[in-house]
Amino acid sequence: MRTSIATVCLSGGLDDKLAAAAAAGFEGVEIFENDLIACASPPAGIRRRVEDLGLSMELYQPFRDFEAVPPDRLAHNLRRARRKLELACLLGAPMLLVCSSVSELAIDDDDLASEQLHQLATLAEEYGVRVAYEALSWGRHVNDYEHAWRIVAAADHPALGVCLDSFHILSRGTDLDGIDAIPADKLFFLQLADAPYLAMDVLQWSRHHRCFPGQGSFDLPGFLQRVVAAGYRGPLSLEVFNDVFRQADPGPTAVDAMRSLLGLQEALGRLLDTTPTPGLDLTHLPETVEPSGFAFVELAVDASSGPMAEDLLGRLGLEHGGQHRSKPVQLWQRDDARVLLNYGDQRLSATLEGDSLVTALGVESADPAQSARRADALIAPRLPRRRGPAEADLVSVAAPGDTAVFFCRTQTTPSWLDDFLPLASADRPDGGDLTAIDHVGLIQPFEQFQASGLFYQLLLGLQPRGSVEYAAPTGLMRSRALASAGGRIRLALNVPALGGDLSGPATAQHVAFGCRDIFATAAAMRERALPILPIPTNYYEDLDARWELDPALLETMRTFGILYDRDEAGGELFHLYTGMLGHRLFLEVVQRVGGYEGYGEVNAPVRAAAQLATV
Ligand code: MG
Ligand code: MG
Repeated sequence: MRTSIATVCLSGGLDDKLAAAAAAGFEGVEIFENDLIACASPPAGIRRRVEDLGLSMELYQPFRDFEAVPPDRLAHNLRRARRKLELACLLGAPMLLVCSSVSELAIDDDDLASEQLHQLATLAEEYGVRVAYEALSWGRHVNDYEHAWRIVAAADHPALGVCLDSFHILSRGTDLDGIDAIPADKLFFLQLADAPYLAMDVLQWSRHHRCFPGQGSFDLPGFLQRVVAAGYRGPLSLEVFNDVFRQADPGPTAVDAMRSLLGLQEALGRLLDTTPTPGLDLTHLPETVEPSGFAFVELAVDASSGPMAEDLLGRLGLEHGGQHRSKPVQLWQRDDARVLLNYGDQRLSATLEGDSLVTALGVESADPAQSARRADALIAPRLPRRRGPAEADLVSVAAPGDTAVFFCRTQTTPSWLDDFLPLASADRPDGGDLTAIDHVGLIQPFEQFQASGLFYQLLLGLQPRGSVEYAAPTGLMRSRALASAGGRIRLALNVPALGGDLSGPATAQHVAFGCRDIFATAAAMRERALPILPIPTNYYEDLDARWELDPALLETMRTFGILYDRDEAGGELFHLYTGMLGHRLFLEVVQRVGGYEGYGEVNAPVRAAAQLATV
């Protein structure tokens, strides 16, 4: 389907917006009135710019408060309309969007609305422009699409149809059955926006919290399926008002927007499956390869943090198993838990001395080439290869937040592990049973939090597993969990709720290792003098109050600093933390029992406070 974006979705001047839309691969644009008014170019110049960028001008919007006014007001409104239709002609816009009136002058009279919209359509026809009538969810008398359609049907003019806007329809929970009753040739335009479920005034919800499809709570694929089934074959046009996007760089936002439409078309394709849908041309992505786990996590370290990281990993129970043939990179491992310590990453030079950072995630893929093809189709930037002769040729892409994602197949010959010379002297520490990397917690740039969630979902086929907010000692944090179907890849994407650069543990990344028996593992770690993060006794008093745990178990947990969570189905999480490694990283050990799927987010404030106390 043709892709389009309203200029209101992006920040900057009109020219920046158009350039970003074209660079991201959009085919069309809706020009928003405010952007045009503030633009130094005359309409004909904007038209040329749009054409030069290879974009099609889909629509000019919005035209407000036109219909159902007292007769003495109509002449004024028709004069306004004539001026805007002239403008649409100069712009080369084939359609004008008319929003249902919010004016106090508007009369609750459908016949009057139909009659006046008929006059508007007759005028528009003279200019070769079509009029799409859209029910705003806060319209004064017309606030749902079925009502707008009744008025358009009664007006019965070939130049008048409806615009469906997913936000206005899904925010009100309007029944979607009525969409099928609208003839295809009257479905003039479709605007798409997602949003999180929020209990708030619908106008404020729309103006501040819309987001791209796949980033909110609405069922956009199901909605689009209804619209397509009714015969709509026009563009998929994004119209998103979002406080964060308004202040973010328009280039990445436009790419994020385009990615959302690729994901939406893929989701629609799955819904339609074998349903014959004549004339529907969906963009298909290369299939997802289900990731089977983390191949590795790479940490950038410097001369000061590196030895501390080595010491900590050794006490956790990993062994220094190999040294890279050509790079200052160490392999630390235990079973499938692998950590690369990179002493040569330039990204660290920009940060405080003694810092460590998660810079790359290695993802196990049965078909890395296919994973790379999907990444390319999702506009994920490929990173330059960094390899010597006869070394493994791993593809990596840049994720939001400056994290690299590598696609690996470890159990194959040759394997990327062959790039590491085994260390003969390495002994495997006794005791404990770390098995794999359970999850990774990443801090995302404020402007890219929504984009990064969608990026990982689409790239790796992850599912959202809920969002939480928690109050760390230094500020409110927002956290979004994502996981693969089998739970082998789990990510927690975190961001300060109000942006800014929160200091200390609140905004630290973390790597969590899974184990089969956290009590035996903790005992072995204690033998190796691992400094496990001490947890206050108050926390255990509260656990006892809430869960009535076995006193001996509770005492053992208190002794080791093991935290606890339980889900509604009785699944349990036992976990422990290290203190900070530098300023922005810590490590965790988890044991999941009985199908627990969360991340123990409930304990994050206690963890952050305890870490802050040890800094
Ligand atoms: Mg709209
Ligand atoms: Mg965690």
